[in-house]
Amino acid sequence: MRYMEDEKGTLYLCATPIGNLGDVSARCLEVLEGVAMIAAEDTRRTLQLLNHFGITKALTSYHEHNKKAKGEYIVKLLLEGKDVAQVSDAGTPAISDPGEDLVKLCIENGITVTSIPGPVAGINALILSGLSAKRYAFEGFLSVNKRHRREHLESIKDDPHTLIFYEAPHKLKTTLEDMKKAFGGDRKIALARELTKVHEEIIRTTIDGAIDIYSETAPRGEYVLVIEGSQATGNEPEPSFWQDMSIKEHVEKYIADGLSQKDAIKAAASDRGAAKRDIYNDYHKELK
Ligand code: SAM
Repeated sequence: MRYMEDEKGTLYLCATPIGNLGDVSARCLEVLEGVAMIAAEDTRRTLQLLNHFGITKALTSYHEHNKKAKGEYIVKLLLEGKDVAQVSDAGTPAISDPGEDLVKLCIENGITVTSIPGPVAGINALILSGLSAKRYAFEGFLSVNKRHRREHLESIKDDPHTLIFYEAPHKLKTTLEDMKKAFGGDRKIALARELTKVHEEIIRTTIDGAIDIYSETAPRGEYVLVIEGSQATGNEPEPSFWQDMSIKEHVEKYIADGLSQKDAIKAAASDRGAAKRDIYNDYHKELK
């Protein structure tokens, strides 16, 4: 079971299903079977998972409200050489769930931490959204505090990355209205509901379109909201002054500005993210 030859135990961060029990990995079950203790966000919830797979194991609760004392207890077990698995109610630990503090505490105590990868609602919503998955920002849950929620949205309204939010059904309508104020009603949105479950649904529309849909239908189930990044041209990087210059022209511009040939080559190489030697060679080739 031991991850490496180590007299301390290993902390395994185990991802569990976000709705469909079939998504649990073989390795996750093997780890849950093998550890001395499972630290669960909600022991009753994890017990259902363990019962389903016929695993009997000691459980201890580890959640937002007991993480300080429980974190120390779990670290004590690990220091005694016992392996511990940490699971949240669903999905990947530490992603809008407990885990982050325990990882930090283990690192401080020189304890090996490893992960058993698996479902993350936000990433599955992103890949199903039809929006750009090249660069994205995970925003998690918005605050319940109205002012903080609006400030949060305002601070990212020009972000060009695809934005991922978690949201509870009873807050969805207010959130969509707040998003309209910050991002505008035309912004594309995908609402991913009940992922991996029987009633999985992905609604791909605009913020205005989503507001219309939910003015007639009550939101139900768990949601991830994926929002297109800002398309404002102001987010495009400024074209570089040297973009249309040859390497010789680029280097000579710096020489005309007063740099030595060596420094001009260095500056041009830095602008272009190229090696000095390549710029030097090209410059001298062009001089011939
Ligand atoms: N750790 C989890 C993960 O890896 O995605 C997230 C836990 S967070 C407390 C719960 C939120 O995740 C829900 O409110 C919802 O926004 C999202 N979520 C979890 N399961 C989901 C599902 N099956 N479909 C859509 N969203 C889900």
